[in-house]
Amino acid sequence: MSIPHPDPDKLRLPPEGETPGTPQPHFIRQIIIEDLKQGRFRGVITRFPPEPNGYLHIGHAKAIHLDFGLAEEYGGSYNLRFDDTNPAKEEVEYVESIQEDVRWLGFDWGDRLFYASDYFEQLYQFAEDLIRKGAAYVCDLSAEQIRETRGTLTRPGVESPYRHRPVDENLDLFRRMRAGEFPDGSRTLRAKIDMASPNLNLRDPVMYRILRATHHRTGDAWCIYPMYDWAHGQSDSIEGITHSICTLEFEDHRPLYDWFIEQLGIHHPRQIEFARLNLTYTVMSKRKLLELVREGRVHGWDDPRMPTLSGFRRRGYTPEAIRDFCERIGVAKKESVVDLQLLEHCLREDLNRRAERRMAVLRPLKVVIENYPEGQVEWLEAVNNPEDPAAGTRQVPFSRVLYIERDDFREAPPPKFHRLYPGNEVRLRNAYLLRCDRVVTDEAGAVVELRCSYDPDTLNASPRKVKGTIHWVSAEHAVKAEVRLYETLFTAPDPLNVPDGADWKDNLNPHSLDVLPEAKLEPSLKEAKPGYRCQFERQGYFAVDPDSKDGQLVFNRAVTLKDSWAKIEKRG
Ligand code: ATP
Ligand code: MG
Repeated sequence: MSIPHPDPDKLRLPPEGETPGTPQPHFIRQIIIEDLKQGRFRGVITRFPPEPNGYLHIGHAKAIHLDFGLAEEYGGSYNLRFDDTNPAKEEVEYVESIQEDVRWLGFDWGDRLFYASDYFEQLYQFAEDLIRKGAAYVCDLSAEQIRETRGTLTRPGVESPYRHRPVDENLDLFRRMRAGEFPDGSRTLRAKIDMASPNLNLRDPVMYRILRATHHRTGDAWCIYPMYDWAHGQSDSIEGITHSICTLEFEDHRPLYDWFIEQLGIHHPRQIEFARLNLTYTVMSKRKLLELVREGRVHGWDDPRMPTLSGFRRRGYTPEAIRDFCERIGVAKKESVVDLQLLEHCLREDLNRRAERRMAVLRPLKVVIENYPEGQVEWLEAVNNPEDPAAGTRQVPFSRVLYIERDDFREAPPPKFHRLYPGNEVRLRNAYLLRCDRVVTDEAGAVVELRCSYDPDTLNASPRKVKGTIHWVSAEHAVKAEVRLYETLFTAPDPLNVPDGADWKDNLNPHSLDVLPEAKLEPSLKEAKPGYRCQFERQGYFAVDPDSKDGQLVFNRAVTLKDSWAKIEKRG
């Protein structure tokens, strides 16, 4: 494969990033620059190698941001490769969702889409090469026996009685393994390395197992499947990967990958490990996320409470916010936990710049303006985005009957409550001053309606000082919507940290979803389509959910407006 050449003289680390979007200098950038300057590689080719056994989550976004983002930065190219060596757990659904999610993040791998399964034949030939070199052998021990003879960190392993099989016998048996002559699990191909190695990965690891399973791509063509450790490094090599960036747990596997590559004498990528992303209030393992989906704890992989990219997308996150987050967290060699508030902060910053403001009443309380003429409608001007003059203005209808937020009214206001209460005056956003004159209650004493009066001389003018501004929607023009509010999926910052015998799922937040079926939106939102995001003034950023049907809008709250992270940043 051809490698684009960057000019080594122009390579330097980015400056320390303080404003959003500014790249961070970090050790991976440093390594890449060094390699290019010293001519170890003439360009950069990276890959993102997901196993198609679940949907991508925000941790994967970090990996993609590094793999693909760095290749782009250094003028290289990148491959999307499905590491589909395990036929049992993989599904086409995952292959498709992964591509959709990577594309959504803003990456285009062009024609560089690969599957480890495309290399099954090549890997098989490589394995025969190792057998011929006396570096691999067919072993008749069961999986159980292999485990038992592997030894421990303090005790060396025991050599397999089949370790010294002659090459010809190994070749013959391996070919017959492939031909389907032996039952599942009866034999394996193992690398002949060192049963006493302090690194357990080097104690004659299994390279192939016999497994009659239908593969999502190769069907029933194979009844032996390569182990991940055998497939991964060679797949990187075949693709000419220069920098194979992966998470820390593969650090101990690197000597094995190096050994295979050296035995085979093929292109040698540089593997670089980094600490995976952990987030507070979040579980990231695909296995555990699958459990939540299977047990119906959430409404699918793309449930807006899930840390999956499809969940974030549905909730209203932008790819820009996620990439900004990935850049800001940087990379390190040491595991840490990132505060979920930082991710939310990145979204707020992005949407603050870009999202239109709209008025929406989530829990409506009816207001009748007794001195406003019946049947009259005024179209008042409202600014779409104070952060973006180019976003312009829109007209919002004002009439005699409005809805306001239930929370914006108190019959008996607590101290410092500056919103509406009997006798008090507030500003209606983009409109007039409004005074509450009378409260209408039902038989049980619950407030059902407010009788108010407005001051016609106060449109965009404030002859008197009022302390509160509230939003509103004209009842006659309101668009009804269902609004879904989300809290964290777990109540504990470290959900997996549970006492022995306890279930991590006990940490699920019973209030993670709150559905408000009767929200009232300003009419400009009538035609909003899934994917549309805006700020509901004073409430947060919201996005249209794909569950929306004609005449029945559903909005998700992506994030509230309260930014505790910005406060932390200021203090720090
Ligand atoms: P999980 O542990 O969530 O099941 P995985 O590591 O098994 O994930 P893969 O499909 O093998 O998932 O991951 C593809 C790539 O994404 C790998 O290079 C892996 O190192 C990386 N990756 C997975 N989880 C994270 C994470 N939390 N942070 C950063 N990178 C990650
Ligand atoms: Mg994995």
